[in-house]
Amino acid sequence: MPNTPATVLEINLDALTHNYTYLKSRLKPNTKFLGVVKAFAYGSETVTVARKLETLGVDYFAVAYTQEGVVLREAGIATPILVLHPQPSNFDTLIEHRLEPSLYAPRILKLFITAVIKAKKENYPVHIKFNTGLNRLGFWENDVAYIIKKLQEQPLLKVVSVFSHLAASDDLAEVEFTEIQIANFEKIVKTISDKLGFVPLRHLLNTSGILNYSEAQYDMVRSGIGLYGYANDTAIDAALKPVATLKTVISQMHQIEPGESVGYNRGYRSDGYKITATLPLGHADGISRHYGNGKASVLVQGKKAPIIGNVCMDMMMIDVTGIACKEGDEVIVFGENLTAEDFAKNANTISYELLTAISQRVKRITTGS
Ligand SMILES: *Cc1c(COP(=O)(O)O)cnc(C)c1O
Repeated sequence: MPNTPATVLEINLDALTHNYTYLKSRLKPNTKFLGVVKAFAYGSETVTVARKLETLGVDYFAVAYTQEGVVLREAGIATPILVLHPQPSNFDTLIEHRLEPSLYAPRILKLFITAVIKAKKENYPVHIKFNTGLNRLGFWENDVAYIIKKLQEQPLLKVVSVFSHLAASDDLAEVEFTEIQIANFEKIVKTISDKLGFVPLRHLLNTSGILNYSEAQYDMVRSGIGLYGYANDTAIDAALKPVATLKTVISQMHQIEPGESVGYNRGYRSDGYKITATLPLGHADGISRHYGNGKASVLVQGKKAPIIGNVCMDMMMIDVTGIACKEGDEVIVFGENLTAEDFAKNANTISYELLTAISQRVKRITTGS
């Protein structure tokens, strides 16, 4: 391809379809599926991913911030979009783009009603978020009376759903805590439904929740990481396919003598004759310095080559001693045979952080259909 940059992030739509189908197969046929496409669809490409999920029949989307929802609407996405963490300063924009806010605190509810009055809207779809133990965002159970009072004072909002979020759905050492969260959620749903006179959609589970607590799927689930091919579980990871593959090339190779150093601050010191390769990929592309000094490896000719020394802004060096390779050869940073989870592991982080950190300088290319 002419003019294709050396470093690209390939987004494989066939893998996305595979993961969506797999996750759906773990649910009851009537459970709705909300696809989480925040943070550039976990670092991939929001619009491409959302369009594909829309054709696959996803019921809902979620983004974190209003502006992410605006991008989807401007691209013609018609599926309902839940904004998980809206701010009052964006309410006018949110309403203008028919985005649906998560209302998570008395202040947010009050200010959202004011914005709906100002926009002269009625029956505006909203989602009420409850805190059941994560202690991040959400109303507390004893806010229900206040919520009902506000909803009745100005009956302009339509409560589409009631939801909460699990703190440790991927950690089977925390089953007891998670079961308490599930019980709290049930109790809150009952209290608010009794007062509303109807039961809104109920949703609690993220990807690991779907896999570990499927009995709590209620009316809808919210999956992000699973769609992109990761499940916080090695056995399930094997059933999923990574959507994003980060590829680059070898720009230059060097022969290093024993005792020589490589990179800034002489971060790597050679204890023998080594062959190194320099790659056009650095911390400005999202490969943090935490991955340097042997913490992560890439694949060259299918073989693992560790990052040596400090990751630079636009480059990194790898040890390719003993690997039959040459300048211009392709390098897989992560993807199918070396997953983002593998890459992240020794640097003490998780696939979520690595994927969402890949910067906008890296060109996204779509494969599959
Ligand atoms: C990000 C997010 C999700 C998706 O979680 P995954 O682990 O990626 O499936 C679901 N719900 C909420 C509230 C979130 O913030």
